[in-house]
Amino acid sequence: MSQNVQGTRSYFLWVFLGIVTGGMVIYNLLNFLDLDEHNTRYANKENTPSTDSQAWLMVLLCILIPGIGGLIALYIKYSKLHDHLAVYQGAPNIPDGLAIVLISIFLSWLTLGIITIYYEWKWQHVFNEHNRWHARQETPGIR
Ligand SMILES: [Zn+2]
Repeated sequence: MSQNVQGTRSYFLWVFLGIVTGGMVIYNLLNFLDLDEHNTRYANKENTPSTDSQAWLMVLLCILIPGIGGLIALYIKYSKLHDHLAVYQGAPNIPDGLAIVLISIFLSWLTLGIITIYYEWKWQHVFNEHNRWHARQETPGIR
């Protein structure tokens, strides 16, 4: 079995991992850019809690301080959206920044990362719903 020989690696596994992790980095950058745009488009005008995440600063943080920088970015990603959604009565919400950091540190490994994947899905889900809600407010009658 060639894969068990010391010093050998599966090239295709690493290419796959590269695509997966690279894809998640880009996806998270888009999340931050979406938050910044949401701030300009809605939060600023409606005087609701800011969703400005300083997207490129978050990217720099993740590159310059691996690990801790990622946790700070995670904190910002969740707390910005959480605090913004909290003023809209009845809007489904996500855990706040501190809760998601604690979940990531203490629970993620216990659940093989499934709980993190679940909250990442939920983050996007409630943000999508919220954006649709804003769109409906702007153009009444259109769903
Ligand atoms: Zn909003």
